[in-house]
Amino acid sequence: MKTIILKFGGTSVGTIDRIKKISQIICSYKRQNNKIIVISSAMSGVTNDLIKKSKLISKNFDKAEYDVLLSSGEQVACALIAARLSHLGYKARSWMSWQVPIVSDGPHTSSKIIRIYTKDILNYIKLGGIPIITGFQGLNSEFRITTLGRGGSDASAIMLAKFLKADECIIYTDVDGVYTTDPKLHRKAKKIKYIQYDEMLEMASLGSKVMQPASVQDAKLNKIDIRVQSSFLNRPGTLIAKKQKRNFNSQIITGISTTRNDAKITIVGVKDKPGVAASIFEPLSKNLINVDMVVQNISLDGRKTDLTFTVKAEDVKKTQKLIKENKNISFKKMSFAKDLAKISIIGVGMITTPGITYRMFKALALKKINIMVISTSEIKISVLVSAKHIKKAIAALHKEFRLD
Ligand code: ADP
Ligand code: ASP
Ligand code: MG
Repeated sequence: MKTIILKFGGTSVGTIDRIKKISQIICSYKRQNNKIIVISSAMSGVTNDLIKKSKLISKNFDKAEYDVLLSSGEQVACALIAARLSHLGYKARSWMSWQVPIVSDGPHTSSKIIRIYTKDILNYIKLGGIPIITGFQGLNSEFRITTLGRGGSDASAIMLAKFLKADECIIYTDVDGVYTTDPKLHRKAKKIKYIQYDEMLEMASLGSKVMQPASVQDAKLNKIDIRVQSSFLNRPGTLIAKKQKRNFNSQIITGISTTRNDAKITIVGVKDKPGVAASIFEPLSKNLINVDMVVQNISLDGRKTDLTFTVKAEDVKKTQKLIKENKNISFKKMSFAKDLAKISIIGVGMITTPGITYRMFKALALKKINIMVISTSEIKISVLVSAKHIKKAIAALHKEFRLD
């Protein structure tokens, strides 16, 4: 008898019809005599709708109330699934995170699960029941509801797998696995059979939203294998795990990720002395503005420098205001550009293969795509380009690195 975690994403529970279909999937696992634990996201569109509502109420919506609001979508989905399973003759009930409880730590809107009390869940399973647990939510030490960041139901599934010592953790979604790039952006994207944590972590962090980045980190730390599968098609999916079990993937580059909605800010004529960059970024970090790529050019006289960095487009105004108000720095001028995108190639093969940067830049140059900012790590290279080139850039790189 296996303990299996089944997580269903928003599209998989997006309509009553879909809920009926995934209930059949759950029943089929149960019929095979497994111990099943179900985690559900909110029905697709619900969380976005709640965010819109919060914005209409206040630009400074109280963070604790924001979490109460946002987590409500999962409650609805779980009740619907549990009721459908009961309708089909199975013993099932819903569990909110505070009822389990799923204990979280960290700030509202981006908390992390630190502990899950499993006693009641295990007793219920022993009695033949199927627990249906809300994803995305936690309970903090002040007994307030928290949320785990967008896409956070993935993290709920992985942490339940950890605390329940599950044999399998399956993420059911609207694609039948992790692809070499977002299949919605490139029709030649190919399904990856096996991907290691580090590559998946980079892909997720660099924009492949099929898995929440924090959840992949949790899986890596706790050595939890994840299977990503389609709730629409009965096909083998992708295994996200520790080590390459077979040489499925001899490619140098495993995948291509993109983020949209990036913006770049350039500050010209800043003093080139120790501590200046820190003084620029300190107020931004205090205001939770995420600075991503950074480049600094040293001027000819070595006294002044130009600094370019990227933030999300919605943070541009606030960033500019904070820089203008910052008494610790002086500069000649500041400019910004919006509608940019970051394209990244990811692959552990990069470590041992020289010339990847050159091939990436050349493939983009041949398509006349201008690169504005570059950043690299051991297993990825990211470039900032105009958002209008996203599809063209993906197609060029997909071909260059033989992913087609
Ligand atoms: P869920 O609601 O099931 O959590 P998400 O919308 O969060 O699903 O993630 C699935 C989506 O991720 C897909 O519809 C796909 O467009 C997108 N995606 C982005 N990059 C990739 C990739 N490399 N492989 C597969 N899907 C990807
Ligand atoms: N419903 C939440 C979101 O849309 C959590 C999730 O889907 O995983 O971000
Ligand atoms: Mg998701």
